[in-house]
Amino acid sequence: MRKNIIAGNWKMNKTREESESFVSDFIEGLSKISIDCEVVVCPPAIFIDQVVQGLKNANASVGAQDMWHTAPGAWTGEISGEMLSSSGVSYVILGHSERREHFGEDNDLVSQKVHKALSVGLKPIVCVGETLEEREGQDFQTLLKERVFGSLKGVSVEDAENIVIAYEPIWAIGTGLTATPEQAQEVHSWIRDFLTSLYGASVAQKISILYGGSVKPSNAAELIKKEDIDGALVGGASLKAADFVSIIQSA
Ligand code: PEP
Repeated sequence: MRKNIIAGNWKMNKTREESESFVSDFIEGLSKISIDCEVVVCPPAIFIDQVVQGLKNANASVGAQDMWHTAPGAWTGEISGEMLSSSGVSYVILGHSERREHFGEDNDLVSQKVHKALSVGLKPIVCVGETLEEREGQDFQTLLKERVFGSLKGVSVEDAENIVIAYEPIWAIGTGLTATPEQAQEVHSWIRDFLTSLYGASVAQKISILYGGSVKPSNAAELIKKEDIDGALVGGASLKAADFVSIIQSA
């Protein structure tokens, strides 16, 4: 009913040459495996054109790492949804914990970006997660629900099907620490239950919930085989074509 998605977030990494050589290694790697999931590569904005061109005959889509939520205009340095969708981009990561932490993005801004992305035909990958302190605090389930609710504020039942959620425990991002498959499944099932209360069971069953946080070739399969884990948002391990292909193979 829902396809697994493996999305790679390069963050602020790679030069133009490195990006080009990733694409050629990646295409070669993909040609050797059978792909049973949706594959998304999210390069820095400056390499989007290059990666879109490079992957045009490959079984892979391109995503952006962020976008601005207003109509095109006087927003120096920003990138609009229209720019992304007219450049062959299909997905956009929104509300990544690094955007929330370093750029002060809150649920309200994330929800505005989600609306804009949907209006221009992009699929938002909406990130939510908790710090270690929050996890150890008393009502971590409620806190995550508030993050999901706030980030999806006003999204209609019709649009909800086009959203992807990424559960990314902040303590597991780039740290080498991974939630166990059981810990991740528990949270994914809470999120699915919460989405059911918002949009009904048939829509909630169609929404892919990805896990993110130090996913690598050695732990991807165990995570992804859990019932409510519908793929992964991969940071560090998406930078090496061979590792990323291996994760795709396990989905
Ligand atoms: C991420 O940036 O979304 C992420 C999950 O990073 P890493 O895989 O490196 O932990």
